[in-house]
Formats: sequence, C-alpha cells, structure tokens
Amino acid sequence: MNKIMNLFSLEGKVAVVTGANTGLGQGISVALAAAGAHVFGVARRSCAETLEKVNEVDGKFTEVIADLSDLSAIDIIMNEVHKSVDRIDILVNNAGVIKREDAINVSEAEWDLVVDLNEKMVFFLSQAVAKQWIEDKKGGKIINIASMLGFQGGIRVPAYTASKSAVMGITKALANEWAQFGINVNAIAPGYMATNNTTQLRNDQDRNEGILERIPAGRWGTPEDMYGAAIFLASEASAYMNGYTVAVDGGWLAR
Ligand code: NAP
Repeated sequence: MNKIMNLFSLEGKVAVVTGANTGLGQGISVALAAAGAHVFGVARRSCAETLEKVNEVDGKFTEVIADLSDLSAIDIIMNEVHKSVDRIDILVNNAGVIKREDAINVSEAEWDLVVDLNEKMVFFLSQAVAKQWIEDKKGGKIINIASMLGFQGGIRVPAYTASKSAVMGITKALANEWAQFGINVNAIAPGYMATNNTTQLRNDQDRNEGILERIPAGRWGTPEDMYGAAIFLASEASAYMNGYTVAVDGGWLAR
C-alpha cells in the first residue's frame, strides 16, 4: 500500500463498537476489522453472526456481552477489553434504540430508556475511554452514530430526536475540549437504513413509499453503506476533522 492509502489503514488498532450484533454496528465492525483493527463488539446478546462476517474478511473480533442501559456496563466493557489488550484506539458509540409513539402519550419510562442509551451512555463511555487517552497522551478516535433526526424533528419519535440532537451536540462539545489531546470526536448521521430500527417504517406501505420517493438515491441504505465513512473517521485520514457529523443518507438532507 502506498503512503497516502496507508492513512486509511487500521492495522494494529483496537476498536470498541457498541451494538455490534446486528445492523449498522455489525457493518461498522466488519469494516473496521477489514481495515486491520481488532474489534471488540459490545452487545447484550450473541454476536455470532458478526463474528462470521468478520471471519469472512479475515478480521479479528471479540464479543463483549453487556447491557448498555445502565452505566455499570462501562466497567464491564473496560475490564473485558483490557483482559486481552492494553489500549483502545477507536470507540464507536453505535448502540441505540427508537420508540415510536405520539408525543402526547410518551411516558417517562420510555423517555428514559431512549435517552439513557442514546445520549447518556454515549457521553460517559466516551469519557471513560478519553480518560485513558488523555493520560497516555496517545490520542484516539470517537465516532458517534447520530441520525437525520439530529437535523430534523421526525414524527412520533420525540425522545429519539432529542437524544440524537444531543449526540450531535456532545460530538461538538467533546471535540472542542479534546482535540488538543489528539482525540478526534466526529459523528455519522445515517439516513434511512434497512435494519431492525426501521422495520416498523418499512412494513408500513404508505410511509415506506413516502420515504423512498424522497431519497434521491432511490433506495434504503444498508450496513455496507457505512463502511467508507466508518473507516475514514477511525483512521489517520481524518486527523484534522473535529466535531463534525457526516451524513450517509443517499441525499436525504440535500433535498
Ligand atoms: P438496530 O439493528 O436496532 O441496532 C441497534 C443496536 O443497539 C443493536 O445491536 C441493539 O441490540 C443495540 N442495543 C439496543 N439497546 C441496547 C442495550 N440496552 N444494551 C446493549 N445494546 C443495545 O438498528 P441500527 O439501525 O443498526 O441502529 C444502530 C444505530 O444507528 C443506532 O444508534 C440508531 O439510532 C442509528 N441510526 C439508525 C438509522 C436507521 O435508519 N436504521 C438511522 C439513523 C441512525 P439488540 O439487537 O439486542 O436490540
């Protein structure tokens, strides 16, 4: 590989990807492993399918079982990862949940479930990893998975919209404080992607047609569509990017 293309290599790096058992987290895990990283995939259930896909690209993947609805998961993750490696280089805060309900009916429990995982965990897991990076002065990469609903209001998903708007805010806030330590904090805002997150929408014929009609690319996105942006933001190629949210949306926001 020539010197410039080497900027995209993740050879020898360690990545932690949350929500790695399925969907976009699975795609991101495969991409980072294919680029050379040893990926620790965090999930509350088996990542067997992800392991299989990572094996297909000759990558390295280790599963870490943890329920991210509670901050106690942070110690579990850090302890598990540090059993086999000294250092994390890349953190991808991907795990997220969506609840669809008319705003007028949203309960406090539903609100907390969404915000605790999508927003609070993103901040505190980033903080835990960055503490080590600031101490060892070697920097690192944080990629937060935002959403179109950091830019738009959405319909029947107020807690999700609030949490994803917060993800974009957290991305900028952390970048401002941590760029001086060689830590790049950026985000990817996926558009409408065909995963469990959107099963309900895709099963609703009217919503499905309306969404497809509005996407300039004319199709739902896939986990594979995340490969390029994920490798870029995890690698040296994005060394001078701080606090930015990149849309991978088939042109949705351009419309
Ligand atoms: P997904 O298939 O539902 O994946 C969500 C992931 O988060 C799953 O691995 C899920 O695990 C995990 N998760 C949820 N609650 C958890 C918990 N308490 N502890 C540990 N893991 C937990 O949907 P996805 O589309 O891939 O979503 C990935 C990210 O992309 C999310 O942050 C989502 O908001 C964001 N996003 C998705 C879209 C889209 O159109 N699909 C668009 C914009 C942003 P389980 O399988 O066990 O539930």
